[in-house]
Amino acid sequence: MTEVERLNYDVVVIGAGGAGLRAVIEARERGFSVAVVCKSLFGKAHTVMAEGGCAASMGNANSNDNWQVHFRDTMRGGKFLNNWRMAELHAREAPDRVWELETYGALFDRTADGRISQRNFGGHTYPRLAHVGDRTGLELIRTMQQKIVSLQQEDFKETGDYEARIKVFAECTITELLTDDGRISGAFGYWRESGRFILFETPAVVLATGGIGKSFKVTSNSWEYTGDGHALALRAGATLINMEFVQFHPTGMVWPPSVKGILVTEGVRGDGGVLKNTEDKRFMFEYVPDVFKGQYADSEEEADRWYTDQEKNRRTPDLLPRDEVARAINSEVKAGRGSPHGGVFLDIASRLPAEEIRKRLPSMYHQFKELADVDITKEPMEVGPTCHYVMGGIEVDPDTASSSVPGLFAAGECSGGMHGSNRLGGNSLSDLLVFGRRAGLGAASYVAELKERPTVDQSDVDAAAEMALAPFDPPGNGVEENPYSLHTELQQSMNDLVGIIRKSEEIERALEKLGELRERIKRVTVEGHRQFNPGWHLAVDLRNMLMVSECVARAALTRTESRGGHTRDDHPGMDSQWRNKLLVCSATPGDNPVVPDIGIEVKAQTPLRQDLLELFELSELGKYYTDDELTSHPGSPA
Ligand code: FAD
Repeated sequence: MTEVERLNYDVVVIGAGGAGLRAVIEARERGFSVAVVCKSLFGKAHTVMAEGGCAASMGNANSNDNWQVHFRDTMRGGKFLNNWRMAELHAREAPDRVWELETYGALFDRTADGRISQRNFGGHTYPRLAHVGDRTGLELIRTMQQKIVSLQQEDFKETGDYEARIKVFAECTITELLTDDGRISGAFGYWRESGRFILFETPAVVLATGGIGKSFKVTSNSWEYTGDGHALALRAGATLINMEFVQFHPTGMVWPPSVKGILVTEGVRGDGGVLKNTEDKRFMFEYVPDVFKGQYADSEEEADRWYTDQEKNRRTPDLLPRDEVARAINSEVKAGRGSPHGGVFLDIASRLPAEEIRKRLPSMYHQFKELADVDITKEPMEVGPTCHYVMGGIEVDPDTASSSVPGLFAAGECSGGMHGSNRLGGNSLSDLLVFGRRAGLGAASYVAELKERPTVDQSDVDAAAEMALAPFDPPGNGVEENPYSLHTELQQSMNDLVGIIRKSEEIERALEKLGELRERIKRVTVEGHRQFNPGWHLAVDLRNMLMVSECVARAALTRTESRGGHTRDDHPGMDSQWRNKLLVCSATPGDNPVVPDIGIEVKAQTPLRQDLLELFELSELGKYYTDDELTSHPGSPA
């Protein structure tokens, strides 16, 4: 029998980024005991890296803003493929979640009259991002950790034990979810330092594990983003949606190579920075797509006036949604007008005084100065698209964040639906707060209503341990595979063949490659023992990366249109017949014991509720919807 540390909690939250921490707070406030598990150090999550801000229609910078405008912007950004109920809840609840953070102690930048300051971002009609310089994510995490400590202090007063209701398990990786008759019964993992196994017996798990960027070669994501939550959910029987939609942020650093992919916040453009090609031309004016015509400035003069007078001028096309800007940069580089290292120029130096740049964008200034020896107050940056965010994720009920597996909940980047085919900048931090809270609440309500708790089957624990240890003792046919080589090959294929611009032959080649890697992973071999062994950790994560990469590639091949974060060179237009179709991925055991088979099904979206449909002009909806879908719109002639 496997030697395992066994613990019991009402709710286990996997992931300590914004979504996870907000879920912890909610489940604990409902009186339940919560374990929060993270594979990195506590406090080191993706959320900490968020720079630009958190979108919420508080109307502080422009009183015309409200939840309906935010909802409309989010649906437009997602090209109307969003789960509209999620987009509605998000737009309605984001302001309360931001104000609530203030009650936890958050210190946002202020307007001259003392309210929370809000900045411009791509695709948002009004300045909407609450921010703390360009370190907003850090403040979110700091504040929620502080709230957790205060809850632990309350628990200490009551029970004499700080960890009576919230305990943090840092540097601990969950490798498998366990089920009892289809319901969640536990989560199995290992301590990264000692390699020893740990089992959480629990009826409710909230997945908040973030993204999948490490399956791609050029990415703004850090080492933890290996799609673990996506894969854990699939193996437990849940479904993923929208996996073909991967966001390539337009402005990652392209030079020097050591920092390739690292993000340059959209806040640089929100604060006045402009994109230029080698001819010193502000090329974004050439790339306003038909669906956005009329909403963006068509001259540099108007675009520049917009920064100070948004009532009388239209916004700059430098702030089109990310998918549009990334494709435009790609086209400029392809046309030979790119910068020396294969990107374009982002110029803020000629647009704002040096002092102002350092004040508004301290991290950007520091990042370029320290890591790349570029002074952004004096010269332009070289930037290009970098894999940044996955819109696809675990299919959840919008109100409760529950997946199709009883007891399994998901929130944040690992969940799907909210952002449709493309996320607007700033909408992730607000998503984490809104749906992190709802997931914590959903899990708490589920546990409260349980008649009897599921139990963990020892044979499942043994199987999970055997799977985790397999790389130490692969089948002995003499051929050994190195996890680092497999990872590099995977990243290269995903980048080259399922990256920003896709076509069917290339995706098919990627699928062939993934098939080959699925076979080779069975022979992955690691040296040494279980004490802090990065090769072993990667071998365990590779399984997950292969599963999610296959979901991305299969869905990308199936969707024969271009929309948001999915651009098909061989199907360049948006096709309204595809707008209401979701591609749903599921896993079946198949004959490969390490990586299950992935299946895809097409499912129809629930039609947009009438009152929400009426928030849009018929002429705008006509760009996305089929005529039949619009007969109920009051403007429809039918
Ligand atoms: P994360 O914050 O990614 O946290 C995931 C957690 O899961 C971590 O604690 C990790 O250790 C843990 N984990 C993962 N797998 C396992 C496992 N197997 N076992 C245990 N633990 C596990 N969005 C905005 O809205 N505004 C911005 O300005 C913005 N700027 C960004 C800048 C950068 C550089 C990047 C990379 C992203 C930015 N984003 C921004 C996006 C946003 O930060 C992320 O989408 C968001 O933080 C994801 O939060 P999360 O809570 O879902 O997961």
